[in-house]
Order: sequence, then structure tokens, then C-alpha cells
Amino acid sequence: MRFREKNYTGKMGVIDLSDLSVQVAPLEESLISEHIGGAAVNRILLDRYDGNDSIVLGTGPLTGSFAPASCLLVATFRSPLSGKISNVPLTIRNGSEMKFAGFDFLVMNNTASQPMILSVHEGTMVFHPAGPLLNLTIAEMSSIMRREIRDIRSWIIAGPAADKRAVSASVSVSRGGSFDKTGLASVMASKNIKGVLFNGIDGLSYGDNDLTRSEAMMKGLSTSLHGKGPGFSRILQHLGADSSIMELLPIKKMRQRACYHCPFPCMCHVEVTNETLFDGKDSNGIRTLLLTDHLGFMTLADTFNADVFPIMAACNEWGLDPVAVSQIIPRGGSLDEVLSMIKGLFSGPELKVKEVDGHTCGTVSCSIPRQEADRFGGGIPPLTVIGDFDSPENWKRRVALSMILGICPIFLLMFPDITDVDLLSFIDPEKESRSSLQIRLQAAIDDVCRA
Ligand code: SF4
Repeated sequence: MRFREKNYTGKMGVIDLSDLSVQVAPLEESLISEHIGGAAVNRILLDRYDGNDSIVLGTGPLTGSFAPASCLLVATFRSPLSGKISNVPLTIRNGSEMKFAGFDFLVMNNTASQPMILSVHEGTMVFHPAGPLLNLTIAEMSSIMRREIRDIRSWIIAGPAADKRAVSASVSVSRGGSFDKTGLASVMASKNIKGVLFNGIDGLSYGDNDLTRSEAMMKGLSTSLHGKGPGFSRILQHLGADSSIMELLPIKKMRQRACYHCPFPCMCHVEVTNETLFDGKDSNGIRTLLLTDHLGFMTLADTFNADVFPIMAACNEWGLDPVAVSQIIPRGGSLDEVLSMIKGLFSGPELKVKEVDGHTCGTVSCSIPRQEADRFGGGIPPLTVIGDFDSPENWKRRVALSMILGICPIFLLMFPDITDVDLLSFIDPEKESRSSLQIRLQAAIDDVCRA
């Protein structure tokens, strides 16, 4: 079966950072026909450019489609922490924006001679010098980039922690951190690629019945979608958060946020006040904190109680993994002491934070072996109490399914009634030909789980 126009733009970009050259190539039909997309195709491309220290960014056939939670972009690279291949899920709008900007896959090879930002727009790629952005917070970078580069709808940015080569650095996909706990930010910094920006204004065509199919699927979920409380706190409850953590959340004041085409907003904005953190740059000392990282929040809340909010904001602004921070910074200090300790992590010319040797789930009780969590970036919550994902094997296969098709893994773990057949119907509505696609999808899942 041929993948149709609506599944892919049909273009991939291969970038040589050493001379800032860019090749735009047609997406090979055989590649996606056999390996479907996302993490499975990324792995093939990573192997193809072996020896170039590549980072591969890949969408799935459903990224940017009418399928629910179709926001996903997957970054595949060799983790500097484990030495193994890791696939980091990048949410918010990054997958749909990359596709709408004209690319299904981007391979970034070698190392640039100076820090650069790559901006992707209408099927073209442009480099911008990023030297002036080094060591700035995400807020400071954001305001400069929006002024100087302008057309930015989503981004993947390595913050100042990565500039200092911190092993606990984590990329930012908005202002709320990310699920990167395996060193994507550090690998980007080591290649002098400070960030990738997308401005996806082109869109994709859709199949005749995709909207109806999508609405029927959402309707089928309606009871489980509208459970008690905001999505962020529902995930915390599933992870076993106790009342002392749940009571920290200002439920009535939380503003929920969802990624591209997701009916289950599992992120939220809360107000946070701390002048120390903002160095007096914020005129009233108040800003909204975006919470996206459930594991990071739970671990910091468990360690620092009500101070979790400003500490989480500090991690977001400096591009740090909150779970790693909780393992580095001792308990017991005042908030100002803790924040200055975190800030102190960036005062030296070359930061050497101790190797983080705990489980990537921090203090959250988890049955998923670390190497399996790290295969998928280390930050996906171990939602093992829903469906049959309490077996590490089933959890792994469910996450691999999401990472191949381009659907958010958290969404698929939360809603186990959605089957692979439901999702594949967005690619191929015909039952007969779909069964062969289903077989190839299972083989691709095997590959991702084995690799
Ligand atoms: S489940 Fe949460 S992280 Fe996933 S797409 Fe929806 S809002 Fe985004």
C-alpha cells in the first residue's frame, strides 16, 4: 500500500552542520512502507548516517492528522548518559509544525563551528548565529528569537544548562521543559545546534472521512476523558501521588493546556512568584509557570514540598531535568538557598554535575526498568495502572506504537481502548489492505523495542 499525500509531505532534509549545507531529498516510499514512520524510520536513518553523531527528528504518518493527540515529533540519537539509542518524545506542536513547515524527517549530522539556530519554514531551512543566546534563560532567548527571527510557532531549544554541558540538561519544547531525561539537550549543545524552530503554515490534505472518524473516536472516549480534575492532577493520581502532593496543586486556579489536536489537556499553567529566580527582570515578580513534566513535578514536590513551583520554574528556565536536580540539590535549605544552589550550577566555565544514577522516574514508584524508560527519553510517566500496561513489555509496545505513528504516548497510555486498528484507519480505511499494514506496524514495533 502506498502512503498517501495526507500522511507525509514527502520530503526529508539532511543537514551537514560542519559546513551548514542542506540537502532536501524525496522521502523514500520503500522506507515508510516497510518501517511506517517515527522512531522506526529514525533508527534506519541514524544507522544510515552512522559515524556522523546524528540527531534524527522524525514524524509519524499520523503526526498533524485528525487522529487525537497527533502532535508528536521524535528525536532519536545516542544518549550520552547511557550510550544507548534513545527516542525522546517532543510534544506541544513540534511534530505538526515540522510537517506543516514541509518536512517529515530531518537528519542533523556532524558539528557546527559555532552555535547556530536552525529555522524551518515552507520547505526551506535557514541558519541563524546563536552565540548571543548562550547562557541566557529560556525566557530571555524566547524574547530575542521572537524579535529577531519572528516567524516561530514551535521550538526545541537547549538552555544554559546544556551550554555548560550539564549531564542533567533537558531540552525545552515550550516554556515548560520536556520529557528529555536522556541528554538530547547535551547532544544538541555538543553539535553547536542551539535550537530548531518551526513555522508550519502549509498544512496537509485530509482524507474524506477523517474528521468524522476523529469525532467518533473522541465521542467513544467521552466518559473517560472527563474524569475528575484537571489532566495534570489526574496523571499524578495515577502515579500514586499522596494527599500532601495533591494539595499543593491550586486546582481552581490551574489553566489547562493541551498539545496539537489533543482532547486530554494534561498540562497546566499555574501562577508562581519569586523575585530571586527572575533576577528582578520581571517587573512584578509574577509569571505563569507551565507544568508539563509529571515525573519532575512529583519528585520535586516530594523533596521540596510547596517550593516545588519556583524550583520547577528554575529548572524550566535553565533547561534542567527536575528529577536530576532533586538528586543533586540536598533537602533542608531555604528556598533562596536552593535556588542559588541551582543557579550556582551554572557559574563555572564547564559544569560537571555528578552522574545521575537514580531511576529516571525519581521518587515515583515504577515497575518499568530504567533501560526501557530511557529507550523513550526517560520522562514518559509510567502509567501502568490503566489497561494492561502494568507489564513492562506491554508498556514498551504501547509507547513504541505511539512513537512510530506520531501520537502522544501519554495519551495512548491514558486511553487503552484506542487500538492500533483504530489508529491505522486514519492511514488506510480499507480493511483488507489495512491488515498488511498492521503486520508491518507490529514488525516496526519489534524493531523499536529491540534496537
Ligand atoms: S496527553 Fe498531554 S502531553 Fe500528550 S498530547 Fe495531550 S496534552 Fe500533550
